[in-house]
Amino acid sequence: MKRITSLAGAVPRRMTRAGSVLKSIWLWRWILAAVTLAATLVVFGLSLESGLDLARRQARQRLVIAEAVLRAAIARYEYLPTVLALDTQVQALLADVDAPDRVAAVNAKFAAIATASNVAAIYLMDPDGLTRGASNWNQPLSFVGTSYAYRPYFTAAKATGVSHYFGIGTTTGVPGLFIGKAVPGADGRVAGVVVLKVDLEGLPNEWREAGEQVLVSDAAGVVFLASEPAWKYRPLHRVGAAEAARIRVERQYGDSALTPLLDQDRDPAGMIDLPTGDGTVGGLVERTALPEFDWTIWYVAPTGATLRQAGLAALAAGITCLALAFALAARSQRRRRLRSEQAMRLALEQRVTERTRELSAANDRLRSEIAERERTTAALRSTQDELIHAGRLAALGQISTAINHEINQPLAALRTFLASTAVFLERGDGATVRRNLERMTQVTQRIAEIIRHLKAFARKTGTEHREAVKLRAASEAALDLLQARIRAEAVTVTCTIPPEALVWAEPIRLEQVLLNLIVNALDAMQDAPERRLDLTAAREAGSCWRLAVADSGGGIAEEHMGQVFDPFFTTKSAGEGLGLGLSLSSLIVRDLGGSIAAANGARGAVLAIVLPAADA
Ligand code: ADP
Repeated sequence: MKRITSLAGAVPRRMTRAGSVLKSIWLWRWILAAVTLAATLVVFGLSLESGLDLARRQARQRLVIAEAVLRAAIARYEYLPTVLALDTQVQALLADVDAPDRVAAVNAKFAAIATASNVAAIYLMDPDGLTRGASNWNQPLSFVGTSYAYRPYFTAAKATGVSHYFGIGTTTGVPGLFIGKAVPGADGRVAGVVVLKVDLEGLPNEWREAGEQVLVSDAAGVVFLASEPAWKYRPLHRVGAAEAARIRVERQYGDSALTPLLDQDRDPAGMIDLPTGDGTVGGLVERTALPEFDWTIWYVAPTGATLRQAGLAALAAGITCLALAFALAARSQRRRRLRSEQAMRLALEQRVTERTRELSAANDRLRSEIAERERTTAALRSTQDELIHAGRLAALGQISTAINHEINQPLAALRTFLASTAVFLERGDGATVRRNLERMTQVTQRIAEIIRHLKAFARKTGTEHREAVKLRAASEAALDLLQARIRAEAVTVTCTIPPEALVWAEPIRLEQVLLNLIVNALDAMQDAPERRLDLTAAREAGSCWRLAVADSGGGIAEEHMGQVFDPFFTTKSAGEGLGLGLSLSSLIVRDLGGSIAAANGARGAVLAIVLPAADA
């Protein structure tokens, strides 16, 4: 009851504990996931911020350099139009634009200077914008005779004295920077405009080769110099309709469709993605203005590497977090395992102790039970022995009349011999006296033999005295005790027992069994018309001998067949039978390792015993 109660209490407790362990495992998993995610995000953010910061600083430095290079590229030629505006030959030509020698002189001068200073073209326009002299006067696409009055570099120079204008040449189709300078006339008015066309295409090539993303846009936001050719002549944002119309009228960027580079109309500060010939370039943007030209220089620093680095740092942080968590989990699991192993060991030890205690108690109980049983068995055995002995004495009592007769008969013979011997002695018949004495000796021997036999039969025996006993000798000994009765009742006895029939038995008890069987047979045949007693022995299967005692007494009634071996079962009248003969015989035979059975034969009962053969 106590055990059931404790078990019933232990199960829910264990289940509650398992449930809370499970819950805490899940909680820890969530915490771990959250911590790992947070660490990854924080590291990613920090790493990205510092990477972008570095990229921004580098972009600014590169931008400063790009600006300086651009300014230097322009500054190299800045003085030239001013110098040419002051040139006397130039001024002379403008004074008389139709003088062929003046035109030739200016053309020659411009061509020589253009070649020497490596500029694309130098040309001179009259106040109406018509080109009067040019460095390319003798080339197929000569500017001479062409009016550029609509071009802003002419109008601006005429209006303000100086102009800077980037555009694609309407005659040559070649882009370049046009630097215009008004030539002052004698009356203070503008006599003409001298223009220098500078090829700046070398700069984008240099940027490209250096792997840098640089763009230069004009006041309208249209990119005209770019390290990536695909960006050229495209505005960063959509250009207004009026501005677009102006650009087309001026033919500033040829036939460019002015498709914006950026989708949204947002300020491209920060991060942008620009289309290239084979994809896009994403990056961080830095810009600076060139107010004197109304231009803006953009520097795009690619951030792919920074992003990758931040990603790797975040990954490393995540892995470190996980590794740490796994190490902690492994440690705690190991601790838990050790704790549970220890608990199991303790429980096991306790169980072993309990079981050992129970076992030794059971052992003690068993030992005392065995001792008790041994005592009981010994008592039973001695009671049995007593009973068998009493049974034997009772059998002797039953046949005492016959034994009496058996002894009295030789005694009477002895008396007769004594009387006759005295007579023969007086007569002096020595020979007869001697013969009588011999006979008397034989008679006393017979009496001694009977007494010895009875003494032996009456003695107490135990099963421990076993030996090889001849069945024939044992049967004859039993018949011998009943000799007087057999004779008196005229019973025909046959004893067909082979001399080699040897059984392993205690001789006196075996004789007691045989005596019982023979007495019962004689009792049964008392009123029978024919009295035949047949003792036969035969070898049985299983190394045994079977001895059968068959009589002609009519047999055992069917209804008694199952009871004849029961103690105190008898059909004989009081004083004649105790009902113990067969039950004791059965006890003895079983004790000797054999068996006994009753059956009815042709004339009477057949009682058979089976005993182990002595040679087995
Ligand atoms: P008891 O001889 O004192 O009666 P037993 O135990 O020897 O006791 O026999 C029990 C009974 O078995 C006998 O009373 C008798 O009825 C029956 N019985 C034994 N042997 C024979 C026999 N050979 N023929 C007929 N009946 C027998």
